[in-house]
Amino acid sequence: MRTIQSFVSKYRGRFAPSPTGSLHFGSLVAAVASYLDAKSNYGEWLVRIEDLDSQRQIPGAADQILYTLEQFGMEWDGEVIFQSRRLELYQAALDILTKKNLIYPCKCSRKEIADSSIVGLNGPIYPGTCRNKSIKANINHALRIRTDNNLIAFCDKLRGNYTQRLQRDVGDFVVRRADGMYAYQLAVVVDDADQGITHVVRGMDLLDSTPRQIYLQQLLGYITPEYMHLPVVTNQQGEKLSKQTGAKPIKLSNALKQLLCALEFLGQESPPDMIEADLSYFWQWACKHWRADKIFS
Ligand code: GLU
Repeated sequence: MRTIQSFVSKYRGRFAPSPTGSLHFGSLVAAVASYLDAKSNYGEWLVRIEDLDSQRQIPGAADQILYTLEQFGMEWDGEVIFQSRRLELYQAALDILTKKNLIYPCKCSRKEIADSSIVGLNGPIYPGTCRNKSIKANINHALRIRTDNNLIAFCDKLRGNYTQRLQRDVGDFVVRRADGMYAYQLAVVVDDADQGITHVVRGMDLLDSTPRQIYLQQLLGYITPEYMHLPVVTNQQGEKLSKQTGAKPIKLSNALKQLLCALEFLGQESPPDMIEADLSYFWQWACKHWRADKIFS
């Protein structure tokens, strides 16, 4: 089994797209912000493809995302990792949690949960139906982790203090799904620790997942990175841009123009003399002038 390496306190950021389609403007914003925050702190920027959910994936999307990043001049450090090739790491983490007696099988259907629970921050709060039943674990059962009501608090770089009590606000959550796949919450925590990520910059839609991730980090003995959750790009109907809401893929032509739009969305100044500029000038300038505190202003 691989061990989690301990890294010196250097900045190490990451961009972790799911290959459910091509990059759209919303994912470009997350890529640009995580890249600039890392590079302006003389840090490294890693890319991880979060391809655990085979049903939501589009064949070829991962390659296309990587190609787009390259064409836009975003160079990543080290090897790109693919979650689908790291299942033994997630199982090892699950084994640790199981040994701590924190994992239990759950055979509730989505409908049963929806019917018997109140809606919390992130969908229905699991009412704990299977928590104290001694169900024999079966491959077709989801696995949940027991939560408690201790306060989980962290300071988001843009949003300030954010707290949750997991049992009250979210409920025991799934760490391995009924189809056998490891849940995003578990995989992301294992990977951030294994890759030595010190700073996570991502969309605000994941803010309410962060306490679940901190809870898992604490149980697994991992360090909690710094978090910065970015404003989410929405369409005219106010929906988050995504494949489901019909977001258009970004075009490979005219990278500079789209990068300038991303910079503007992030509240940053634009380079004054862009007419003759190329990508390398853009990145140098944007890196030098990156001010995370301007994102919401
Ligand atoms: N894979 C997630 C997404 O594409 C991002 C996860 C993360 O940054 O933690 O929305």
